[in-house]
Amino acid sequence: MIKTISYLGLGTMGSGMVSNLLKAGYELTVWNRNLEKCEPFARKGARVANSPADAARDVDLVMYMLSNDQAVEDVVFGANGILSGINEGQIAIDMSTVLPATSLREQEAYAKHGADFLDAPVFGSKQESVDAKLWIMAAGNKAIFEKVKPVLEHLGQTIHYFGKNGNAAAMKLVGNLIVALEMEALAEGLVLAQKAGLDLNTVMKVVKVADFRSPLLVSNGQNILKRDFSPSFALKLMLKDADLIEKFGNSLQSPIPALRVVEKNLAVAVDLGFGNENASALIKALEKEAGVEVKARRARRSAETEQNH
Ligand code: NAP
Repeated sequence: MIKTISYLGLGTMGSGMVSNLLKAGYELTVWNRNLEKCEPFARKGARVANSPADAARDVDLVMYMLSNDQAVEDVVFGANGILSGINEGQIAIDMSTVLPATSLREQEAYAKHGADFLDAPVFGSKQESVDAKLWIMAAGNKAIFEKVKPVLEHLGQTIHYFGKNGNAAAMKLVGNLIVALEMEALAEGLVLAQKAGLDLNTVMKVVKVADFRSPLLVSNGQNILKRDFSPSFALKLMLKDADLIEKFGNSLQSPIPALRVVEKNLAVAVDLGFGNENASALIKALEKEAGVEVKARRARRSAETEQNH
Protein backbone atom coordinates (compact mmCIF):
# COMPACT_ATOMS: atom_id res chain seq x y z
CA MET A 1 0.00 0.00 0.00
CA ILE A 2 1.24 3.49 -0.90
CA LYS A 3 1.69 5.69 2.17
CA THR A 4 4.45 8.17 1.34
CA ILE A 5 4.42 10.32 -1.81
CA SER A 6 6.73 12.97 -3.24
CA TYR A 7 5.18 15.39 -5.72
CA LEU A 8 7.34 17.57 -7.98
CA GLY A 9 5.98 20.47 -10.07
CA LEU A 10 3.50 22.68 -8.23
CA GLY A 11 2.16 24.62 -11.22
CA THR A 12 -1.46 25.07 -12.29
CA MET A 13 -2.12 21.33 -12.40
CA GLY A 14 0.28 19.99 -9.77
CA SER A 15 -0.88 22.32 -7.00
CA GLY A 16 -4.50 21.10 -7.20
CA MET A 17 -3.37 17.48 -7.15
CA VAL A 18 -1.10 18.00 -4.13
CA SER A 19 -3.96 19.60 -2.17
CA ASN A 20 -6.07 16.54 -2.86
CA LEU A 21 -3.30 14.12 -1.86
CA LEU A 22 -2.87 16.02 1.42
CA LYS A 23 -6.63 15.88 2.01
CA ALA A 24 -6.51 12.13 1.37
CA GLY A 25 -4.04 11.78 4.24
CA TYR A 26 -0.85 10.74 2.42
CA GLU A 27 2.47 11.66 3.99
CA LEU A 28 3.67 14.18 1.43
CA THR A 29 6.98 15.69 0.32
CA VAL A 30 6.92 18.47 -2.28
CA TRP A 31 9.51 20.07 -4.55
CA ASN A 32 9.26 22.90 -7.05
CA ARG A 33 11.95 24.73 -9.01
CA ASN A 34 10.64 28.03 -7.67
CA LEU A 35 10.62 27.06 -4.00
CA GLU A 36 8.06 29.72 -3.02
CA LYS A 37 5.31 27.56 -4.49
CA CYS A 38 6.06 24.95 -1.79
CA GLU A 39 5.14 27.27 1.09
CA PRO A 40 1.34 26.83 1.11
CA PHE A 41 1.82 23.06 1.21
CA ALA A 42 4.51 23.22 3.90
CA ARG A 43 1.98 25.11 6.03
CA LYS A 44 -0.40 22.19 5.55
CA GLY A 45 2.18 19.69 6.74
CA ALA A 46 4.14 18.69 3.63
CA ARG A 47 7.91 18.29 3.86
CA VAL A 48 9.82 20.49 1.39
CA ALA A 49 12.67 18.68 -0.38
CA ASN A 50 15.77 20.60 -1.38
CA SER A 51 16.27 18.80 -4.73
CA PRO A 52 14.48 16.25 -6.94
CA ALA A 53 16.97 13.61 -5.70
CA ASP A 54 16.15 14.48 -2.10
CA ALA A 55 12.41 14.30 -2.89
CA ALA A 56 12.81 10.87 -4.46
CA ARG A 57 14.61 9.28 -1.50
CA ASP A 58 12.71 6.87 0.75
CA VAL A 59 9.14 7.36 -0.48
CA ASP A 60 6.79 4.76 -1.94
CA LEU A 61 5.80 6.90 -4.91
CA VAL A 62 7.30 9.86 -6.82
CA MET A 63 4.86 11.84 -8.97
CA TYR A 64 5.54 14.85 -11.19
CA MET A 65 3.68 17.26 -13.44
CA LEU A 66 6.13 19.46 -15.36
CA SER A 67 5.81 21.81 -18.32
CA ASN A 68 7.47 19.87 -21.10
CA ASP A 69 10.09 17.34 -22.22
CA GLN A 70 12.96 19.68 -21.31
CA ALA A 71 11.66 20.06 -17.76
CA VAL A 72 11.42 16.27 -17.45
CA GLU A 73 14.97 16.04 -18.80
CA ASP A 74 16.19 18.45 -16.10
CA VAL A 75 14.19 17.08 -13.16
CA VAL A 76 14.52 13.36 -13.89
CA PHE A 77 17.86 12.99 -15.70
CA GLY A 78 19.70 16.16 -14.56
CA ALA A 79 22.24 16.67 -11.78
CA ASN A 80 20.50 15.95 -8.47
CA GLY A 81 17.59 14.65 -10.50
CA ILE A 82 15.06 12.01 -9.42
CA LEU A 83 17.25 9.25 -10.84
CA SER A 84 20.03 10.20 -8.41
CA GLY A 85 17.71 9.56 -5.47
CA ILE A 86 15.36 6.75 -6.47
CA ASN A 87 16.01 3.15 -5.46
CA GLU A 88 14.83 -0.39 -6.02
CA GLY A 89 11.16 -1.03 -5.28
CA GLN A 90 10.04 2.59 -5.64
CA ILE A 91 7.54 3.79 -8.24
CA ALA A 92 7.62 6.95 -10.39
CA ILE A 93 4.70 8.46 -12.31
CA ASP A 94 5.09 11.17 -14.96
CA MET A 95 1.81 13.06 -15.40
CA SER A 96 3.26 15.73 -17.74
CA THR A 97 2.30 15.96 -21.40
CA VAL A 98 5.44 14.72 -23.16
CA LEU A 99 6.42 12.65 -26.19
CA PRO A 100 5.77 8.90 -25.84
CA ALA A 101 9.45 8.43 -26.66
CA THR A 102 10.32 10.42 -23.52
CA SER A 103 8.11 8.12 -21.42
CA LEU A 104 9.94 5.11 -22.84
CA ARG A 105 13.32 6.67 -22.02
CA GLU A 106 12.12 7.33 -18.48
CA GLN A 107 10.91 3.74 -18.07
CA GLU A 108 14.27 2.34 -19.22
CA ALA A 109 16.22 4.68 -16.93
CA TYR A 110 14.10 3.84 -13.87
CA ALA A 111 14.36 0.12 -14.63
CA LYS A 112 18.17 0.44 -14.36
CA HIS A 113 17.62 1.59 -10.76
CA GLY A 114 15.14 -1.23 -10.07
CA ALA A 115 12.25 1.27 -9.96
CA ASP A 116 8.93 1.03 -11.78
CA PHE A 117 7.44 3.74 -13.98
CA LEU A 118 4.03 4.71 -15.32
CA ASP A 119 3.15 7.47 -17.76
CA ALA A 120 -0.12 8.96 -16.53
CA PRO A 121 -1.07 12.23 -18.23
CA VAL A 122 -4.47 13.82 -17.70
CA PHE A 123 -7.33 15.59 -19.39
CA GLY A 124 -9.13 18.38 -17.58
CA SER A 125 -7.66 21.66 -16.48
CA LYS A 126 -7.13 23.79 -13.38
CA GLN A 127 -10.68 23.36 -12.02
CA GLU A 128 -10.77 19.60 -12.59
CA SER A 129 -7.41 19.34 -10.84
CA VAL A 130 -8.74 21.28 -7.81
CA ASP A 131 -11.99 19.28 -7.77
CA ALA A 132 -10.24 15.88 -8.18
CA LYS A 133 -12.24 15.39 -11.39
CA LEU A 134 -9.41 14.81 -13.84
CA TRP A 135 -9.66 12.22 -16.60
CA ILE A 136 -6.50 10.16 -16.14
CA MET A 137 -4.79 7.74 -18.52
CA ALA A 138 -2.08 5.39 -17.30
CA ALA A 139 0.36 2.98 -18.96
CA GLY A 140 3.04 0.58 -17.77
CA ASN A 141 3.20 -2.60 -15.75
CA LYS A 142 -0.38 -3.68 -14.88
CA ALA A 143 0.42 -4.80 -11.32
CA ILE A 144 2.07 -1.46 -10.61
CA PHE A 145 -0.93 0.30 -12.11
CA GLU A 146 -3.23 -1.60 -9.73
CA LYS A 147 -0.98 -0.64 -6.82
CA VAL A 148 -1.14 3.11 -7.54
CA LYS A 149 -4.78 3.20 -8.71
CA PRO A 150 -6.09 4.07 -5.21
CA VAL A 151 -3.83 7.15 -5.26
CA LEU A 152 -5.03 8.19 -8.72
CA GLU A 153 -8.62 7.76 -7.56
CA HIS A 154 -8.07 10.72 -5.22
CA LEU A 155 -7.23 12.88 -8.25
CA GLY A 156 -9.54 11.91 -11.05
CA GLN A 157 -13.08 10.92 -11.96
CA THR A 158 -11.98 8.32 -14.52
CA ILE A 159 -8.79 6.26 -14.93
CA HIS A 160 -8.16 4.35 -18.15
CA TYR A 161 -5.36 1.80 -18.40
CA PHE A 162 -3.59 1.81 -21.76
CA GLY A 163 -1.15 -1.12 -21.63
CA LYS A 164 2.54 -0.65 -22.30
CA ASN A 165 4.55 2.43 -21.37
CA GLY A 166 4.20 5.33 -23.80
CA ASN A 167 0.59 4.50 -24.71
CA ALA A 168 -0.96 6.89 -22.19
CA ALA A 169 1.38 9.65 -23.41
CA ALA A 170 0.25 8.79 -26.97
CA MET A 171 -3.43 8.99 -25.94
CA LYS A 172 -2.81 12.40 -24.42
CA LEU A 173 -1.46 13.67 -27.76
CA VAL A 174 -4.43 12.12 -29.62
CA GLY A 175 -6.79 13.96 -27.25
CA ASN A 176 -4.90 17.24 -27.47
CA LEU A 177 -5.02 17.04 -31.27
CA ILE A 178 -8.82 17.02 -30.93
CA VAL A 179 -8.72 19.82 -28.33
CA ALA A 180 -6.55 22.00 -30.59
CA LEU A 181 -8.92 21.53 -33.54
CA GLU A 182 -11.95 22.29 -31.34
CA MET A 183 -10.31 25.52 -30.14
CA GLU A 184 -9.55 26.55 -33.72
CA ALA A 185 -13.12 25.67 -34.79
CA LEU A 186 -14.53 27.76 -31.95
CA ALA A 187 -12.27 30.72 -32.74
CA GLU A 188 -13.01 30.67 -36.48
CA GLY A 189 -16.73 30.20 -35.83
CA LEU A 190 -16.98 33.10 -33.36
CA VAL A 191 -15.02 35.46 -35.61
CA LEU A 192 -17.29 34.55 -38.53
CA ALA A 193 -20.39 35.04 -36.35
CA GLN A 194 -19.11 38.45 -35.25
CA LYS A 195 -18.41 39.48 -38.87
CA ALA A 196 -21.90 38.30 -39.85
CA GLY A 197 -23.40 40.54 -37.16
CA LEU A 198 -24.99 37.67 -35.21
CA ASP A 199 -25.89 38.10 -31.55
CA LEU A 200 -23.02 36.24 -29.90
CA ASN A 201 -24.92 35.36 -26.73
CA THR A 202 -27.52 33.61 -28.90
CA VAL A 203 -24.71 31.96 -30.90
CA MET A 204 -23.37 30.49 -27.65
CA LYS A 205 -26.85 29.34 -26.62
CA VAL A 206 -26.96 27.27 -29.82
CA VAL A 207 -23.38 25.99 -29.32
CA LYS A 208 -24.48 24.82 -25.88
CA VAL A 209 -27.37 22.65 -27.10
CA ALA A 210 -26.67 21.63 -30.71
CA ASP A 211 -25.37 18.19 -31.69
CA PHE A 212 -21.80 19.53 -32.01
CA ARG A 213 -21.80 20.79 -28.39
CA SER A 214 -18.91 20.07 -26.03
CA PRO A 215 -18.02 21.37 -22.55
CA LEU A 216 -14.77 22.72 -23.97
CA LEU A 217 -16.57 24.81 -26.62
CA VAL A 218 -19.07 26.13 -24.09
CA SER A 219 -16.66 27.15 -21.32
CA ASN A 220 -14.09 28.68 -23.68
CA GLY A 221 -16.76 30.36 -25.83
CA GLN A 222 -18.41 31.98 -22.80
CA ASN A 223 -15.06 33.20 -21.50
CA ILE A 224 -14.10 34.65 -24.89
CA LEU A 225 -17.36 36.62 -24.95
CA LYS A 226 -16.45 38.01 -21.51
CA ARG A 227 -12.87 38.65 -22.75
CA ASP A 228 -11.64 36.48 -19.87
CA PHE A 229 -8.37 34.87 -20.91
CA SER A 230 -7.06 34.04 -17.43
CA PRO A 231 -5.00 30.88 -17.83
CA SER A 232 -6.29 27.41 -17.01
CA PHE A 233 -4.26 25.92 -19.84
CA ALA A 234 -1.70 28.42 -21.12
CA LEU A 235 -1.56 29.22 -24.84
CA LYS A 236 2.21 28.60 -24.85
CA LEU A 237 1.58 25.07 -23.50
CA MET A 238 -0.89 24.40 -26.28
CA LEU A 239 1.73 25.51 -28.81
CA LYS A 240 4.18 23.16 -27.09
CA ASP A 241 1.63 20.33 -27.43
CA ALA A 242 1.01 21.15 -31.12
CA ASP A 243 4.74 20.72 -31.67
CA LEU A 244 4.65 17.35 -29.85
CA ILE A 245 1.64 16.21 -31.90
CA GLU A 246 3.42 17.22 -35.11
CA LYS A 247 6.55 15.27 -34.14
CA PHE A 248 4.48 12.27 -33.08
CA GLY A 249 2.27 12.35 -36.19
CA ASN A 250 5.32 12.67 -38.44
CA SER A 251 7.07 9.77 -36.70
CA LEU A 252 4.09 7.54 -37.58
CA GLN A 253 3.46 9.13 -41.01
CA SER A 254 -0.06 9.97 -39.85
CA PRO A 255 -1.57 13.00 -41.65
CA ILE A 256 -2.21 16.11 -39.52
CA PRO A 257 -2.99 18.88 -42.05
CA ALA A 258 -5.49 20.75 -39.83
CA LEU A 259 -3.13 20.64 -36.83
CA ARG A 260 -0.51 22.49 -38.89
CA VAL A 261 -2.97 25.35 -39.45
CA VAL A 262 -3.76 25.54 -35.72
CA GLU A 263 -0.06 25.43 -34.89
CA LYS A 264 0.54 28.43 -37.15
CA ASN A 265 -2.25 30.44 -35.47
CA LEU A 266 -0.99 29.45 -32.02
CA ALA A 267 2.49 30.67 -32.95
CA VAL A 268 1.06 33.98 -34.23
CA ALA A 269 -0.90 34.48 -30.97
CA VAL A 270 2.22 33.70 -28.90
CA ASP A 271 4.25 36.15 -31.04
CA LEU A 272 1.58 38.78 -30.38
CA GLY A 273 2.42 38.37 -26.68
CA PHE A 274 -0.47 36.20 -25.46
CA GLY A 275 1.53 33.07 -24.53
CA ASN A 276 0.72 33.28 -20.81
CA GLU A 277 -3.01 33.77 -21.42
CA ASN A 278 -5.44 30.90 -21.75
CA ALA A 279 -5.25 28.75 -24.89
CA SER A 280 -8.52 30.34 -26.06
CA ALA A 281 -6.43 33.49 -26.76
CA LEU A 282 -5.71 31.66 -30.00
CA ILE A 283 -8.71 33.67 -31.26
CA LYS A 284 -6.63 36.85 -31.00
CA ALA A 285 -4.57 35.76 -34.02
CA LEU A 286 -7.76 35.47 -36.11
CA GLU A 287 -9.25 38.66 -34.68
CA LYS A 288 -6.16 40.58 -35.79
CA GLU A 289 -6.47 39.18 -39.30
CA ALA A 290 -10.22 39.86 -39.36
CA GLY A 291 -9.99 43.34 -37.80
CA VAL A 292 -12.65 42.55 -35.18
CA GLU A 293 -12.86 41.76 -31.48
CA VAL A 294 -15.28 39.03 -30.43
CA LYS A 295 -17.25 40.31 -27.44
CA ALA A 296 -20.74 39.83 -26.05
CA ARG A 297 -23.10 42.63 -27.10
CA ARG A 298 -23.87 43.94 -23.61
CA ALA A 299 -20.17 44.39 -22.84
CA ARG A 300 -19.67 46.08 -26.23
CA ARG A 301 -22.57 48.50 -25.61
CA SER A 302 -21.23 49.55 -22.23
CA ALA A 303 -17.80 50.06 -23.81
CA GLU A 304 -19.44 52.25 -26.48
CA THR A 305 -21.35 54.14 -23.79
CA GLU A 306 -18.12 54.71 -21.90
CA GLN A 307 -16.46 55.99 -25.08
CA ASN A 308 -19.36 58.42 -25.68
CA HIS A 309 -18.94 60.01 -22.28
P1 NAP B 1 2.56 25.33 -15.24
O1 NAP B 1 1.53 25.94 -14.37
O2 NAP B 1 3.34 26.21 -16.16
O3 NAP B 1 3.57 24.51 -14.29
C1 NAP B 1 4.71 23.93 -14.83
C2 NAP B 1 5.55 23.31 -13.73
O4 NAP B 1 6.75 22.77 -14.33
C3 NAP B 1 6.00 24.32 -12.66
O5 NAP B 1 6.04 23.65 -11.43
C4 NAP B 1 7.39 24.69 -13.14
O6 NAP B 1 8.24 25.15 -12.12
C5 NAP B 1 7.88 23.35 -13.64
N1 NAP B 1 9.02 23.47 -14.55
C6 NAP B 1 9.04 23.95 -15.79
N2 NAP B 1 10.28 23.88 -16.32
C7 NAP B 1 11.06 23.31 -15.38
C8 NAP B 1 12.43 22.95 -15.32
N3 NAP B 1 13.25 23.13 -16.36
N4 NAP B 1 12.89 22.41 -14.18
C9 NAP B 1 12.07 22.20 -13.12
N5 NAP B 1 10.76 22.51 -13.11
C10 NAP B 1 10.26 23.05 -14.23
O7 NAP B 1 1.94 24.19 -16.18
P2 NAP B 1 0.63 23.29 -15.94
O8 NAP B 1 -0.52 23.96 -16.60
O9 NAP B 1 0.56 22.85 -14.55
O10 NAP B 1 1.01 22.07 -16.90
C11 NAP B 1 1.94 21.08 -16.50
C12 NAP B 1 1.88 19.93 -17.50
O11 NAP B 1 0.53 19.45 -17.54
C13 NAP B 1 2.23 20.32 -18.93
O12 NAP B 1 2.88 19.26 -19.56
C14 NAP B 1 0.85 20.55 -19.57
O13 NAP B 1 0.89 20.38 -20.97
C15 NAP B 1 0.04 19.47 -18.88
N6 NAP B 1 -1.40 19.72 -18.79
C16 NAP B 1 -1.87 20.95 -18.47
C17 NAP B 1 -3.23 21.15 -18.38
C18 NAP B 1 -3.82 22.49 -18.06
O14 NAP B 1 -5.02 22.69 -18.32
N7 NAP B 1 -3.08 23.41 -17.49
C19 NAP B 1 -4.11 20.08 -18.61
C20 NAP B 1 -3.59 18.83 -18.89
C21 NAP B 1 -2.22 18.66 -18.98
P3 NAP B 1 8.31 26.74 -11.75
O15 NAP B 1 7.12 26.97 -10.86
O16 NAP B 1 9.59 26.89 -11.04
O17 NAP B 1 8.24 27.49 -13.03
